[in-house]
Amino acid sequence: MDVEIAQHSGFCYGVKEAIKLATETAEASDRRTVTFGPLIHNPQEIERLGREYGIERVDALDGLTDANVVIRAHGVPPEEFERAAVQNLAVVDATCRFVTDVQNAAIDFCRKGYPLYIVGEPQHPEIVGILGHARRERPDAEIHVVETVDELIAANPARAAVVFQTTHEYAKYKRLERHIREHTLPWKMKNTICGATKSNQYAADELARRVDVMIVIGGKNSGNTRRLVELCAMHARSHHVETVAELDRGWFEGATKVGVTAGASTPQWVVDDVVAAIESL
Ligand code: SF4
Repeated sequence: MDVEIAQHSGFCYGVKEAIKLATETAEASDRRTVTFGPLIHNPQEIERLGREYGIERVDALDGLTDANVVIRAHGVPPEEFERAAVQNLAVVDATCRFVTDVQNAAIDFCRKGYPLYIVGEPQHPEIVGILGHARRERPDAEIHVVETVDELIAANPARAAVVFQTTHEYAKYKRLERHIREHTLPWKMKNTICGATKSNQYAADELARRVDVMIVIGGKNSGNTRRLVELCAMHARSHHVETVAELDRGWFEGATKVGVTAGASTPQWVVDDVVAAIESL
């Protein structure tokens, strides 16, 4: 079977940096190294970091002492940094610089008094972090989290400043840009979708148009992987797997060409396993 991997897929800059910071910290220190929440959204890589480097995950800082705390790639609210300082924890900030850019854009819009609209998943750690930073800047700010661009268009506020979760679908950003232009709305908008997300989405979309089946590899808890699945499903039979164990021979019946893409938190070793298994079918 002919297998082609998307031109852009897998580990992004922010994830590589977060893993590098966490592993270097664990190797250089005698203290326990923990990540605050999952460092990245890939259970297999998190398990490897625990097995090979002893890096543990905690979901709250309560009661934690004498440890290095690595802040996840998608950030935390400012109160968590303060709590860590009070508890004398050594903070290693692995917040991706593109996430910091969204936090700063949100702060700037709130400072200027705009009603802020954040387009993204309300429960996602990145959104919780952005909200925390914006509220810290201006506790009385009007802030809304909307899951979709359509929700914002339907709300049709008189004034709005819009930022996006870094891993939101780029085509939706362009749709909102068009809507604002066509209706000459006085809304402010900043494109805060990161380059890796945009490249992975473009490449997956392009490949899915040329194959019979798309396999999208990544954590089931990974928002950017789920969005790749949605994009690919518009053009080809598409399946989301975390590991090689989930592949089903039946998916490939009648297929001559298979495309493979992977979310930004998916390590290359997981991709290699899946590709080798498809090629051997
Ligand atoms: S997906 Fe983008 S924002 Fe998120 S860690 Fe990777 S580079 Fe940073």
